[in-house]
Amino acid sequence: MSITIQIPTPLRRFTAEQGEVQVDGATVGEALDSLTQRFPNLRRHLYTDDGTLRSFVNVFLNDEDVRHLKSGQTPVNAGDTLVIIPSIAGGAPTAIQTETEALPGLSPAEIRHYSRHLIMPEIGTAGQRKLKAAKVLMIGTGGLGSPLGLYLAAAGVGTLGLVDFDVVDETNLHRQVLFSDKDVGRPKTQAAAERLRGINPHIKIIAHDTRLESANALDLFKDYDLVVDGTDNFPTRYLVNDACVMLGKPNVYGSIFRFEGQVSIFWGAKGPCYRCLFPEPPPPGLVPSCAEGGVLGVLPGIIGSLQANEVIKLITGVGEPLIGRLVLFDALKMKFRELKLRKDPNCPVCSENPTQRELIDYEQFCGIAPHPETETMADDFEMTVQDLKRRLDAGEELLVLDVRNPPEYEIARIPGSKLIPLGELQDRLGELDPAATIVAHCHHGGRSANAVHFLRQMGFNRAINLAGGIDQWSLNVDRSVPRY
Ligand SMILES: [Zn+2]
Repeated sequence: MSITIQIPTPLRRFTAEQGEVQVDGATVGEALDSLTQRFPNLRRHLYTDDGTLRSFVNVFLNDEDVRHLKSGQTPVNAGDTLVIIPSIAGGAPTAIQTETEALPGLSPAEIRHYSRHLIMPEIGTAGQRKLKAAKVLMIGTGGLGSPLGLYLAAAGVGTLGLVDFDVVDETNLHRQVLFSDKDVGRPKTQAAAERLRGINPHIKIIAHDTRLESANALDLFKDYDLVVDGTDNFPTRYLVNDACVMLGKPNVYGSIFRFEGQVSIFWGAKGPCYRCLFPEPPPPGLVPSCAEGGVLGVLPGIIGSLQANEVIKLITGVGEPLIGRLVLFDALKMKFRELKLRKDPNCPVCSENPTQRELIDYEQFCGIAPHPETETMADDFEMTVQDLKRRLDAGEELLVLDVRNPPEYEIARIPGSKLIPLGELQDRLGELDPAATIVAHCHHGGRSANAVHFLRQMGFNRAINLAGGIDQWSLNVDRSVPRY
């Protein structure tokens, strides 16, 4: 039976400049064979030596990619049109290629739900069916995970996995718009799944109420087509990257801090990975977390939405994916910058000869030893807030040293405390008396523990950490001190 094959401009020099060729065949494979028999020079542009269709050549039957049908076995009917679409320099469509079986259809209710997608030629019914077939795993349901979850669910991503082990906290609500006040204290995955099901009843939400670790990452990732990184810490970020590289899956990356954000797609099979960009993590303490440094509430909304946009593009194959490009956003200047990223030929995980072929201990890799000081920690290393209160009430001479940042001091303070932010401590040691009893505190006790280690090294032998920080003080000593 006669079908039409459309030849793209770059390949027409092999078909005597014909843009359309009529061929016979019962399947896509037979039709292409008949084409390459007539124009033998075309064959090596379409097929590799072992006879498989080249990865950068797409063949569409009418408006469906044959890879999503039955590839070469897909039957054709008289009057059908095959379109050959090779990649072109600068902006080749790149889509995740997952299922070879037919894409799922859309019910009348789904057609109504997605009608504003369906009438766009770039998405259309084919794109919406790809979205329905797609399985996306979101790591984290926090600031970035909120817009990601809302938009990916609304857009009709058929299977959405949510990984988080945390519960909703009051301090999350200024940016984590997935949650409402009544969700405080609930597991995030549970509250998020409920909200997302309300947005789109046509999709499947899978809640993984667990901490992502080297031991479970590969198993969790393997059932998904792509992974979206919405994490807020370096060990998890490196773990997500390495697991994605090892499984060949794209990793849609976003990160935020204060007023700045970054977005990219790391996909070892098609471009650089996170390790090509940042082979080593920053030393612990150099880059504060959002819990310490803060973040503008709307910023994850912007960055997470950009990630959602890239996810939808990867699934539908439209546009130019953010592979090999890092977008930087500055909310204060309202400026975007784009950096070109290159694959590191010596990347330990995504290069041709990787030196690391398994997942490692990422806490250790990032220099976060699990409290190495506990073994060597002296009995007098820390005191409780109740102890401090008792000793202050007894009129004992001691200095309460607050090592937080000035905006935190503005929110809440322990009366009579002296503020020296941790970052300034080294330069301002002269303000402290080495013979004095110094009780250092911060928000929860982590930064002040570092301060006490440092002070003792410098000869301040009577420096003591306040366990639990000002938060414990608010809870157990003085409830008029606001918690934050
Ligand atoms: Zn790499």
